[in-house]
Amino acid sequence: MAPGSSHGLSRRAALRHCSGALEAAGFNGAAGDARFLLLGTLGLEASDLLLAGEMPLSPEEAASLDAALARRLSGEPVARILGAWEFWGLPIRLTAETLVPRPDTEILVEAALAALPNRNAILRCLDLGTGSGCILAALLSELPRAFGIGLDRSTAALAMARHNLVANGFGGRAAVVISDWCDALRGHFDLIVSNPPYIARAVIPTLDREVRVHDPVRALDGGIDGLDAYRRIFDGVRSRGLLAAGGTLALEIGYDQADTVSDLAKAAGFSHRGLTRDLAGHDRVLCFGLHNG
Ligand code: GLN
Repeated sequence: MAPGSSHGLSRRAALRHCSGALEAAGFNGAAGDARFLLLGTLGLEASDLLLAGEMPLSPEEAASLDAALARRLSGEPVARILGAWEFWGLPIRLTAETLVPRPDTEILVEAALAALPNRNAILRCLDLGTGSGCILAALLSELPRAFGIGLDRSTAALAMARHNLVANGFGGRAAVVISDWCDALRGHFDLIVSNPPYIARAVIPTLDREVRVHDPVRALDGGIDGLDAYRRIFDGVRSRGLLAAGGTLALEIGYDQADTVSDLAKAAGFSHRGLTRDLAGHDRVLCFGLHNG
């Protein structure tokens, strides 16, 4: 066995090897990362490790695990190495043009679902800046009779969104549309959601390296004050009449943006329907409706 390599190791021993290497390099969450890398690169289920942990890696498996470990040790996030992540329990593939789905964004899905009077109704959903399509896929997984449009200005993101919607079984209820925010869109939607770019430009250089280097800046950069996307969304949704009467607009926000985004919404003629906090207790999602809607 070459020193520092997984060659000749069993699955379980390879897991210990990866975990130990990451821990020695000072990574938080070394054990979890090692597990994701092993299962992801070898295409295994957790049960394969439990039931057949003593099976030795093939030379090809060892080589791909070693390559994945080297990438992780150089600071690349696990989701980027695997090109896939999980959101709302659904497998989601990623490209360089899509954000890695964040657990916080599951709060957006929860808040949007909670705002719906009837989850079994025929609902028209719209996801602005859909990226990997993870939010729309999550919504469609909970709304059996809903249809959805995922909109993005990136063709690479849209191709990935389409893949993820089809692979999760929603191809017949979802379409993707290329558009700069709402510019190319018509229609009425019962639910409009978005996790837009909302980081103030000057803050971007201070973000965690894993985000700053590996997430697409277009999906993070909210302009000088971080609010550009919200302005575009409120203006587009309002002027195009995209929100149906009684419909909900649910937006992910930065932890310190609840007041400013609410003010923008109010000025554009939307009424506040609720604020949801994330697991860390930060303001994370705002819901709006139409006045009298
Ligand atoms: N919450 C994201 C982060 O961790 C920001 C995502 C966004 O701008 N929509 O940086």
